[in-house]
Amino acid sequence: MKKEVLIVGGGITGLSLAWELSCLGVDSILVEKAPFLGGHVSQFTCKATDACQKCGACLLEDYLSRLSRINNLPLLVNSRIDSFDEVHGKFKTLVFQGQSKVINEKCDNCGLCKKVCPVDRALFHTAFDSKLYLSSEKCINALGIHCEACAQICPQGAVDLQESRDIEIETSSIAVCSGFTPFDASQKPRLGFQRTPGVFTTLEIDSLLRSNNFQPVLNQEELKSIAFVQCVGSRDPKSGANYCSQICCGVSVRLARLLKSRYPDLEITIFYMDIQTFERHFDETMRRAAKDMTFIRSMPSEIRAGENGKPEIVYQGNDDVKQTVPFDMIVLSIGIRPADPNFPRNFPAMWKNREGFIGSDDQDVAAGHPGIFVAGTAQGPKSITNCVSQAILAASQIKRYLDRTKRGEFK
Ligand SMILES: Cc1cc2nc3c(=O)[nH]c(=O)nc-3n(C[C@H](O)[C@H](O)[C@H](O)COP(=O)(O)OP(=O)(O)OC[C@H]3O[C@@H](n4cnc5c(N)ncnc54)[C@H](O)[C@@H]3O)c2cc1C
Ligand code: SF4
Ligand code: SF4
Repeated sequence: MKKEVLIVGGGITGLSLAWELSCLGVDSILVEKAPFLGGHVSQFTCKATDACQKCGACLLEDYLSRLSRINNLPLLVNSRIDSFDEVHGKFKTLVFQGQSKVINEKCDNCGLCKKVCPVDRALFHTAFDSKLYLSSEKCINALGIHCEACAQICPQGAVDLQESRDIEIETSSIAVCSGFTPFDASQKPRLGFQRTPGVFTTLEIDSLLRSNNFQPVLNQEELKSIAFVQCVGSRDPKSGANYCSQICCGVSVRLARLLKSRYPDLEITIFYMDIQTFERHFDETMRRAAKDMTFIRSMPSEIRAGENGKPEIVYQGNDDVKQTVPFDMIVLSIGIRPADPNFPRNFPAMWKNREGFIGSDDQDVAAGHPGIFVAGTAQGPKSITNCVSQAILAASQIKRYLDRTKRGEFK
């Protein structure tokens, strides 16, 4: 198959780039390794209270709907680059596409298939919707080991096992939109994640709210107090990230305001180092938030289970006196970390910026090899709207590169 651009990654960046390229008349194909499109944004809830909080989560539905109207733009899920070659400035990529899937209209979520599957999370539910997915990346058929256990046990005939296929794609350009990894909060054991009941991450709370499962995790108890702890895995040289993740202050304040609108008596405390406001209109959001919640400029030294089983935060107060305060729930505001796209070994070396992301230190979309571009959080921490802005920039630069290639300027 010949296309002008191969987009790697079907998160908001890859999707908005596919749209922008199509507006410029550039033919592209997108590969996404997960069984669904949307990347991390597919886990986020709309944070509107009585008014829109401009969190950007709805941009995903917007781009998915725009793309559904374009003909001849393949969006391949369950797909990854298996091999790569470059011949006379053309990229020849072999894409593995898993075609097995769970037919959600037939599946009644009985869970039998998950019980017989020999691989952890080859069949999985996400926290953000009630659907069951089959990951071709994990399924052992991808390793050449024959298995039909899930299809055989399913009483509904909902598991559709199909041979995977290899697709040869030739393009003049590749856009790397492979995104980020959320910081793993268990790497900071003193903050109690996965050790202390009642301690969650912002990503978990967002997903629970999206799937309407937030109330059940409270075990029928009322939520009276909640604390957010900022900069977990960001601005923290000890954990290998001496940079600001740019999104977490906005994420916590918006989540806090959303919860306050649902639980008006909720007491909210935000522990922070410095509130970062990279977004337009965020000052206004902060002004409103300051009326509804308490901001404490101190980073907790420990989060542990208190005597009543509720989590408690230990921190240095203003007068340098150690304080211990219990909360019903504590939310760790996790940051953005680089992710390895796991390309074949002979994929051209790309630049790494100071923070370990792909590309340069500024907002440039060049990846360090002619014809290869990078955009979104693969290039560095960004909000959804900033990913879309960078995708617009990438589309125009890719178009310029393709035009110059056609004119033979790079021979
Ligand atoms: C807890 C949390 C909450 C957030 N909330 C907000 C918010 O409210 N508002 C906001 O503006 N921003 C928010 N953000 C930031 C937001 O998540 C990012 O801006 C956005 O998800 C970045 O989109 P992306 O497409 O660059 O990356 P991703 O969302 O990571 O998508 C990348 C995609 O590429 C795929 N991929 C990776 N490697 C390959 C490969 N080799 N082959 C094929 N596919 C591949 C991945 O499977 C994934 O689908 C939040 C971030 C965090 C951590
Ligand atoms: S066994 Fe079939 S119906 Fe039951 S969860 Fe699996 S796919 Fe769905
Ligand atoms: S075919 Fe086997 S390994 Fe693959 S998802 Fe089904 S049970 Fe799991």
